[in-house]
Amino acid sequence: MTTNSGAKGECQECNHWNNVHKSRVCRAPGCRVMWKRCQAPGGCTEEEFYKICKSCSDHPGAEPEW
Ligand SMILES: [Zn+2]
Ligand SMILES: [Zn+2]
Repeated sequence: MTTNSGAKGECQECNHWNNVHKSRVCRAPGCRVMWKRCQAPGGCTEEEFYKICKSCSDHPGAEPEW
């Protein structure tokens, strides 16, 4: 058992497995922050089918094209 912060384990935001999430780099030019979106089968939550579990705090409007 290791506790690295890779793609294994559960998402801290929504408790779905990390491997049903998609990661994309922020669309703002030069920004390297990774966004993370839940794509759990059937939707993440009733309110948010695709929940954004991690966004860029500097560029909240620069959501990547998933
Ligand atoms: Zn999540
Ligand atoms: Zn989820």
